[in-house]
Amino acid sequence: MPVLVTGGCGFIGGNFVLDWLKQSDEPIINLDKLTYAANPATLKSVEGSPSYTFVHGDITDGALLANVFARYKPRAVVHFAAESHVDRSIANPEAFLATNVFGTYHLLQAAREFVKSGAVPVDEFRFLHVSTDEVYGTLEPEDPAFHEDTPFRPNSPYAASKASSDHLARAWHETYGLPVLITNCSNNYGPYQFPEKLIPLVLHRALRGETLPVYGDGKQVRDWLYVGDHCSAIRTVLQSGRPGQTYNVGGCNQRTNLEVVHTLCSLLDELSPDASGEPYSRLIRHVTDRPGHDRRYAIDATKIERELGWTPTETFSTGLRRTVEWYLQHQQWVEEIASGEYLKWVGQNY
Ligand code: NAD
Repeated sequence: MPVLVTGGCGFIGGNFVLDWLKQSDEPIINLDKLTYAANPATLKSVEGSPSYTFVHGDITDGALLANVFARYKPRAVVHFAAESHVDRSIANPEAFLATNVFGTYHLLQAAREFVKSGAVPVDEFRFLHVSTDEVYGTLEPEDPAFHEDTPFRPNSPYAASKASSDHLARAWHETYGLPVLITNCSNNYGPYQFPEKLIPLVLHRALRGETLPVYGDGKQVRDWLYVGDHCSAIRTVLQSGRPGQTYNVGGCNQRTNLEVVHTLCSLLDELSPDASGEPYSRLIRHVTDRPGHDRRYAIDATKIERELGWTPTETFSTGLRRTVEWYLQHQQWVEEIASGEYLKWVGQNY
């Protein structure tokens, strides 16, 4: 039976679909609205494969979801689809409520009806809701890392919408017995990421000789995880996680944003030196900080390591080098996505 993925044309969903089809015979149905953040080119290599079906649609469309479940009879849902960019949520929160909250609600309802129909035994069905560490809010330097029982204190409209969707997913397990699993993961980086997020943004702009904007003092701490390691954590939780449980996923790689930007500049100096002979770090500029900007995130991933035996394979240094090499080798992919909507956004914001 197939696995239904939502948002498979986005950054993490795209990596997940490619990884899955390399490792499993189970087909994937990918339901995606194709928003500005999607790039179908990510999945060009699997188009036409009997194991891969694309459905163009919106998770807020309940009737469409009912048809998708009835037609493909998935044994599991892996729910990535979301509006995912914090800055956009500050400028336009409504789209975040529509997709992240109401979309998740419609998907949970459709899954519930599908299981109720008896098409798949409830014990064998799984609904994996992919979420973020941003639901936990912000940490002081001396605070311990977020664990699964840390209270939710979301600060941005994005984080609040994801926190709402996490609560809905949990409630559909407690109230209706839907076998829900939730993962809360730290910041991802790696191939196929839309260049509005820090790492691809810096690479994209540096290679064009454009300034590299760093919010405020740049001392905000994020905990980074290579996207391939996030995908392996999701596969592990889908296979062995206990329904009703939440698993934090992270790589123990806390870095300030400024450190990340400097490391990227050094990697570019080594792998693709600027024609001027000057270091890329000359392009760094501090810009006005984002309102409500969380100071520090850190993930305690002990539970998934101890209970399910998952550990990341990339260190920050190996993962970041792989990522820079990938972007240097895939300029065409970046060019395809970094037009239209992206250019409009960058023009308004930097
Ligand atoms: P993304 O923005 O790159 O991709 C989102 C995808 O969802 C796009 O393909 C888009 O077209 C699709 N989509 C959006 N609205 C939709 C709708 N209404 N119906 C159907 N499809 C829709 O996001 P991402 O960075 O790949 O994140 C995926 C998930 O992982 C999100 O739920 C996000 O909250 C979570 N997450 C992301 C990170 C990170 O660092 N990027 C970390 C932890 C968790």
